[in-house]
Amino acid sequence: MLMNYAANLLAIETRIAAACDRVGRQRKGVQLLAVSKGQSPQSIRALADEGLLAFGENKVQEAKAKISSCPSQLRWHMIGHLQSNKCRDAVVLFDFIQGVDGLALAQELEKWAQKLGRTKKILLEVNVGGEGSKYGLAPTDVVQTLLRVNDLPHLEVHGLMTIAPYSPDPEHSRGFFRKMAEVKLACENAIGAPLPHLSMGMSGDFEVAIEEGSTLVRIGTALFGARTTPKTLMEHPSNEID
Ligand SMILES: *Cc1c(COP(=O)(O)O)cnc(C)c1O
Repeated sequence: MLMNYAANLLAIETRIAAACDRVGRQRKGVQLLAVSKGQSPQSIRALADEGLLAFGENKVQEAKAKISSCPSQLRWHMIGHLQSNKCRDAVVLFDFIQGVDGLALAQELEKWAQKLGRTKKILLEVNVGGEGSKYGLAPTDVVQTLLRVNDLPHLEVHGLMTIAPYSPDPEHSRGFFRKMAEVKLACENAIGAPLPHLSMGMSGDFEVAIEEGSTLVRIGTALFGARTTPKTLMEHPSNEID
């Protein structure tokens, strides 16, 4: 299927800029991550040709199969749940690992980052809605975990990420995003330094997320159109099991 990626991107860019304007933020303070799970390397290349450089995948196996057929200048974010037995691959494949949901996973990533002689940028995932179906730290546990993870020398904590509970109404996400901004502030106070990233907002709610302080929106379907593979696992934008 031929998609008009230039038009999709322009529409998203216009909406991002308008959301920034509404709250007096600068456009450059919001990074657009193209979520390419379920999309082909050809589609990724087409969006890369439009100037997008950062892409997000939620499964290590799928990313491994695709990244080598994509332009080499692209940067890859792991945005899904990471199993400890995939940490080595994740350290090799991804520039940024969002979705670190506990100290044990951070320690496993640290081990591989050290062995492979790299430093990894990570985000701590927060289950802001307290949903049983989602991964992530409870908001009340974030500061304590951050203080421990911050001591790991091969990981750089760049901030927090979250997926708001699903609702067809983007306004439903606002309170959760506002809560995340508070948690980020508490983290910054605890470590005495600013955290550059608050990764929140997807196709359905990215404008509200920007209004509430998101620095990184993760957008899949609004950019690429519907996902093609593997359908059954990709109908819901939660952290699927792989
Ligand atoms: C799939 C996914 C997205 C993108 O979802 P869309 O609704 O297609 O924009 C964003 N974040 C995560 C963690 C996802 O798994």
